[in-house]
Amino acid sequence: MNLVVLTGAGISAESGLATFRDLGGTWSQVRLEEVATPEAFLADPARVQAFYDARRAQLRRVAPNPAHEALARLERAWTRGDFLLVTQNVDDLHERAGSRRLLHMHGELRSARCLACGADSPWDEDIRPESACTACGTAGRLRPHVVWFGEMPLYMEAIEVALSRCALFVSIGTSGQVWPAAGFVRMIPRDARSVEINPERSQMADAFAEHRRGPASVEVPRLVAELLA
Ligand code: NAD
Ligand code: ZN
Repeated sequence: MNLVVLTGAGISAESGLATFRDLGGTWSQVRLEEVATPEAFLADPARVQAFYDARRAQLRRVAPNPAHEALARLERAWTRGDFLLVTQNVDDLHERAGSRRLLHMHGELRSARCLACGADSPWDEDIRPESACTACGTAGRLRPHVVWFGEMPLYMEAIEVALSRCALFVSIGTSGQVWPAAGFVRMIPRDARSVEINPERSQMADAFAEHRRGPASVEVPRLVAELLA
C-alpha cells in the first residue's frame, strides 16, 4: 500500500510557527502576498530578505512536535509499500524530526538560490547584499530558495507519479487555498483512501472521504498508530 502525505502550515502551528493566516494578521502589518512574490523582491529586495531572514532565524527557536515525529516514525516503519511526504512548508521541522523521503514543493528557508548561476545551497545566516554564492562566488545575487506566488512549485512530476500510484492520501494542516497542492486529493486513484486532518473544514474538505477534526499533534500520532497496528 503506497502512502502519500501532504503537510501544510498547520502541522507546524503547535511548534510555534505562524500559519499563513496568522502571518497575515494585523500584528505583522504584512500580507504574505506582498512579500512572497517576484514583484515584491524586485521592488524592495531588502524588505523581502528581512522578512525571510527573520523567519529563518526563528527556526532556531522552535522544535518539531509530536505530529512531525509521528510521520518520521511512519516512514521508518512502513514496509508495505512506498512512502512519500510532500510538504508546502519551508521550515525544517520534518527533517529535524527524522523524515528523509520528503519533498519541499515550496522550497526551504535554510537554502539560498543564486540568480547568477541557478545553484541552491544550504544557508543558515541572513542573506546580505554582499553575501556570495558558495557555488560560483558571485556576490549580491542570492535570494531565498522559496517558491513565491506566481512561481512554479518544485518536484511536480515526482509528486504526480506518487499521487497516481497511492492507496492512501493524508492531508494535514493545509487550508486547501493554495494551488496546485489543493488539487492533489483529486489526482489520486478512484479507490484510494483519503483522510484530512485539520481542526477546521478546509476548502477542499468535500473531496476527502474521511475527516479527523483536531490538532495535528493529537490526530497524526493516532492515525500513525492505527496504520502501524
Ligand atoms: P494555511 O496557513 O493556509 O492553512 C493552515 C491550515 O492549518 C488551516 O486550514 C488551519 O485550520 C490548519 N491548522 C491550524 N492549526 C492546526 C493544527 N494544530 N493542526 C492541524 N491543522 C491546523 O497553510 P497552507 O495550506 O500550508 O498554505 C499556505 C502557504 O504558506 C503554503 O504555501 C506554505 O508554503 C506557506 N507557509 C509556510 C509555513 C511554514 O513553512 N511553516 C508557514 C506559513 C505559511
Ligand atoms: Zn552562483
